[in-house]
Amino acid sequence: MTSELKPVKEGIFEVGPPPRLRGAICPECNQKFFPRPMVCPHCLGELQDVYLSTEGKVYTYAILRVKPPYKLPRPYAVGWVHLEADGIKIHTLFDPEKLSDLDFGRQVTLRVGAIGVDNNGDSCLRYYFTPQVGGEQ
Ligand SMILES: [Zn+2]
Repeated sequence: MTSELKPVKEGIFEVGPPPRLRGAICPECNQKFFPRPMVCPHCLGELQDVYLSTEGKVYTYAILRVKPPYKLPRPYAVGWVHLEADGIKIHTLFDPEKLSDLDFGRQVTLRVGAIGVDNNGDSCLRYYFTPQVGGEQ
């Protein structure tokens, strides 16, 4: 089932397995970006494609209980994950099944799954991060 669904946006992530986020790096500034900008926002240089780390830590999050857009689960959580290996923080959904396990600094792992619909109203795949339970915080 899941493999028949398309990503919410082509080119942002690979479904896998293993799922991977497609970012970019500026060789001049040595900084990574996600999602991939057209050019480096700092020096306007050309970027190179890179896969980003699939592990990170919750930098901040919010659990939203209002009516969600794109038929996301209710409640759902969004926030920022610090990909320490890449030196960047990225915006993300969190695992809607594990909202009670979310915490600041919690180790999280990248997943891709069927969540909500795309701009055309079709069910689609989204990337999200799921908390590692019982691990280091
Ligand atoms: Zn640059």
